[in-house]
Amino acid sequence: MIESTLLPEHLGLINGKWMPANSGQIFPVINPSTGEHLADVPRMGAAETAASIDVASAAMQSQVPLETRAQWLMRISEVLLEQKEELGRIITLEHGKPLKEGIVEVEYAAGFFSFFSKQLGEFKDQKALEKIRNASWEVHLRPAGVVGSITPWNFPLAMMAKKLAPAIGAGCAVVAKPASMTPLSAIAFCEVARKVGVSDGMINLVIGSAAPIAETLCQHPAVRLISFTGSTEVGKQLATSTAPYVKRLALELGGNAPFIVFEDANLESAADALMANKFRGAGQTCVCTNRVYAHTGIIEPFVELVAQRVSKLRVGDGMDPETDIGPLIDRAGFDKVADHVSDALSHGAKRLVGDDPARPSENWGCFYPPTLLMGVKPEMKVCREETFGPVVAVSQFDDDAGVLEAANSTEYGLAAYVFTNDLARAQQCAAALTFGHVGLNSGSGPTPEAPFGGMKQSGYGREGGLEGLLEFFEPQTVVCA
Ligand code: NAP
Repeated sequence: MIESTLLPEHLGLINGKWMPANSGQIFPVINPSTGEHLADVPRMGAAETAASIDVASAAMQSQVPLETRAQWLMRISEVLLEQKEELGRIITLEHGKPLKEGIVEVEYAAGFFSFFSKQLGEFKDQKALEKIRNASWEVHLRPAGVVGSITPWNFPLAMMAKKLAPAIGAGCAVVAKPASMTPLSAIAFCEVARKVGVSDGMINLVIGSAAPIAETLCQHPAVRLISFTGSTEVGKQLATSTAPYVKRLALELGGNAPFIVFEDANLESAADALMANKFRGAGQTCVCTNRVYAHTGIIEPFVELVAQRVSKLRVGDGMDPETDIGPLIDRAGFDKVADHVSDALSHGAKRLVGDDPARPSENWGCFYPPTLLMGVKPEMKVCREETFGPVVAVSQFDDDAGVLEAANSTEYGLAAYVFTNDLARAQQCAAALTFGHVGLNSGSGPTPEAPFGGMKQSGYGREGGLEGLLEFFEPQTVVCA
């Protein structure tokens, strides 16, 4: 069992009180590296969600001043950083990522709280004068209403931070549902929020069955916005379920990121960037490269540089300081990666690094060997679908127009990367790529200071930047005669 001062209870949080499920049902949280039973958490459902929404509505009535909300955010950021080792440990134990990545996730999450705290100071009601009738108008930014937050397991703390920091900053109370496989980071976050004095009812945590919790969030009239990060499939379901209620949605969905290396690129730095981008979280991030396109003129030396790096990666328990890559989250994730690799091999791809691992007998210990494939074709699953694992899949290209067409030929549009020493060409590529985030000679993912989000079926709405804060406000115009 996990022990931590940040986990005084393994329960949900409603109106500032740690709560079990009404039914008394629980389910286990398992360390995906070792199979250790970390905790039992409540299996909450519709009734607890409805109670949380009522409490959240009531908490919003007190209209906490903007200055107080900004202080909450700053204090949360500070405490997250003070506790980054401990929070990083909790993330690693329940997710499996290397501890150094867990700690970086805490720093990343803290960045959203400090950034939005400072941004709030920039917000002022606007005034406008209508000349014809000599009327004065005011534009107020009102809190959007109670927010439903639904987050995935791949960044158990950071994905919540991206939603809760702007929501609380805007004056919205939140009902948060974490992923069932990683609820402990969310509990620890709630403990941090309690410690810094965020009012009871502003942050509520409902752990449990996704379908009844989501259905209640979709149908309850007090919930005016659902901010979701996860698969495109579930995002579409939420779009359908909320349509009858004309409810706002922010959807951060799946990706299928291309990584283009032109013949004039610095190959060493492109290979380094690819490694950092591709293998973070064992390849289980939405901005992970899924398809590498290397120009015919440099494909061989570039692949050689990548192969040298991939073959040195050490796979293991995230708590072991020697580990570069942890396990996949579960056997379903493992099976998907194995299926993509065998599909590619059976259609003619060549495996330069990696081998066939035995299928794990349990739903933990799903370690997949870092794999490098060459000769990948557009019809293969590794090209068409998000693999979500430690597999580099390399295709060859000859000309700019052809590679841009190939890169764009996906229903997803989250992240793309371009490597070239010709900056004019890089900017032309950025303009032509139908992706919300483009790295030019950079494999970096999002940052609190800039808006991040998808095009096409990768979703709508933005997180980070001023845009990420505006999502949680409702502008109201008031005309005074
Ligand atoms: P998922 O299956 O969609 O789950 C995400 C969250 O939705 C979890 O809390 C899950 O709860 C919940 N959920 C499951 N079924 C639901 C339903 N019918 N209605 C409402 N909520 C439901 O996604 P995942 O496998 O955890 O995460 C991986 C996906 O997230 C990938 O596609 C990845 O690209 C995407 N992602 C996108 C971004 C981005 O910023 N665009 C960032 C990270 C990840 P349970 O855990 O209880 O099932």
